[in-house]
This record gives sequence, C-alpha cells and structure tokens, in this order.
Amino acid sequence: MDIFTIFGDPVAHSRSPLMHNHVFNTLTIDACYTRTHLVDGSKLRQTFFDKNLKGANITVPHKEAAFLACDEVRGIAKSIGAVNTIVNEDGKLIGYNTDADGFIAALHSFGEVKTALILGAGGTARALGLVLRQNGINPTILNRSTSRLEYFTKNDFLTYTWENFSCEEYDLIINTTSAGLGDDNLPVPIPILTSLLQTAQCAIDVIYGKETPFLAYVKKANIPYKDGSDMLLEQGVLANYLFLHGAISTDVIHPIMHKSFLF
Ligand code: NDP
Repeated sequence: MDIFTIFGDPVAHSRSPLMHNHVFNTLTIDACYTRTHLVDGSKLRQTFFDKNLKGANITVPHKEAAFLACDEVRGIAKSIGAVNTIVNEDGKLIGYNTDADGFIAALHSFGEVKTALILGAGGTARALGLVLRQNGINPTILNRSTSRLEYFTKNDFLTYTWENFSCEEYDLIINTTSAGLGDDNLPVPIPILTSLLQTAQCAIDVIYGKETPFLAYVKKANIPYKDGSDMLLEQGVLANYLFLHGAISTDVIHPIMHKSFLF
C-alpha cells in the first residue's frame, strides 16, 4: 500500500486525510493518507523516508522547510520558495506548490477584483502574491513583523507592518496569517481592520472549517466572503493528480474529492 501524509504543527484540524482517502477508496487505489505532527521542520526529509512515503502535503509552519527538503522543485514553487506538495519519484523528493492555482480557482465566484491586500507574509502569502500578480493584480502585503517582508520587498511588492501601514482602498482583503487557526486572534489590530472593511468589496480567509474572528468581522461589514474551503478543495485536487503521477484526470478527481466535504 502506498502511504501519503500531511506534515504540520498543528495538524489535527486538517481535512486532507478525509479528502485524499475518499478519492483513493472511491477509485480503489491501494493507498492511505495519514496525519504527521511534525514540530521540527528540519526533520521533514528524514521523517519522509523513515515513513516510506510516496508523497506528502505540508501545512503551517513547514512549507519553507519543505522547499529546502526537496531534491528538485517544479513550477511556481520555485519562485515562491515554499512547497505544499512533495512527490517521491524513485527516491527523489520533487516539490510543488498547489496553493497558488487552488486560490485562483477559488476566487472566480467573486467576479472581477482589481486590487488586493494580503494579511500575512508566510508561505501562503508568497504563493498568493505571485499568482495574483500573474493574474494581473499586484497585491499589497501587510504583516505583523518585518523579517518575513524581506522576500516581498526584494520582489517589488508594496509592503507594510502594522506600525507604518497607510490604509488605501482594496477590493479584496485576504487573511493568510494563522491568527484564528488555533486561537481567537485577529490578523491585524481592530482599527486597521475597521478601516479596510469600509471600502473592501469582498474578503477571504484561507483558514477553513470555522468562523475565524476575521470572518466574524467581515460578516458584520455585509460584503461577500468565503473561508478557505474552496481553496482547500482546489489545491487538494491538484495535489492528488500529482500523487497519482497524472494517471487520473483532475476532472475525475474533482467531483469525488468535493463529495468528501459533505462528511
Ligand atoms: P506561515 O507560518 O508561513 O506564516 C504565518 C503568518 O501568519 C506570518 O506572516 C505571521 O506573522 C502571521 N501570524 C501568525 N500569528 C499571527 C497573529 N497572532 N497575528 C498576526 N499575524 C500572525 O503560515 P502559512 O502561510 O503556511 O499558513 C497560513 C495559514 O493559511 C494557516 O492557517 C493555514 O492553515 C492556511 N492555509 C490554508 C490553505 C487552504 O487550502 N485553505 C492552504 C494553505 C494555507 P509574523 O511574520 O509576524 O510571525
């Protein structure tokens, strides 16, 4: 049996095992997808081999460590510097990033968006920043602290911390921070959030499966919003396609994986 896993800290909340196992079971593929709680990202590569894995997804906070753990990185993940999907190709770890395309697919229902503000500057923010730019939107980045902003300033994004933020109008506000994932924190102080929501047309929190404090605020502003479920589904479909080395088309995987969201 082929074994896959998701690495993260925390990882108990992850829906990925449900999604991938439903595809494997429905298509009678001899494979099983587990969860691995990994605290030290530098141990990812060794743990991958110790568990004899065929592939893995990587969630918070190890996507940058996963990038470093790979023998080869393909596609947009090379520019992002963060990997959320690893495939074992004959003992070599090949890294991809399916969050970026998954996010763009999830955005479609909002209609046209011209300007965006990304809250956070981690691996997910990098993926979304680059893919939004590829799709004609040059997002502004707002993060709590400075160190992770270096990547964005080097790549010519407009960046702010909470201290020097000067609020403009943004069509779309995206929360990519982990604030609200396992706590009740907001991704930015209340005065900043209040100003942003006065002019925003829509918002998305990439956290899924719960109403985060961010989404609770957005709801009060009475604008269209969504959590990260659609992005989760879309990135999962692309990851599953890679795990199965392209043998099953995404058109087949998509409706099956979608059904797992009803469980
Ligand atoms: P990273 O660890 O790479 O980055 C975390 C970011 O969150 C940093 O910018 C950090 O700021 C910020 N942050 C953490 N805590 C707080 C806080 N209390 N207040 C404000 N900012 C905070 O995480 P990832 O980019 O890998 O993941 C981020 C989130 O996205 C996770 O919740 C993850 O589950 C979700 N996600 C969902 C996906 C989906 O398919 N729906 C796909 C990918 C990710 P600082 O630099 O100051 O520390």
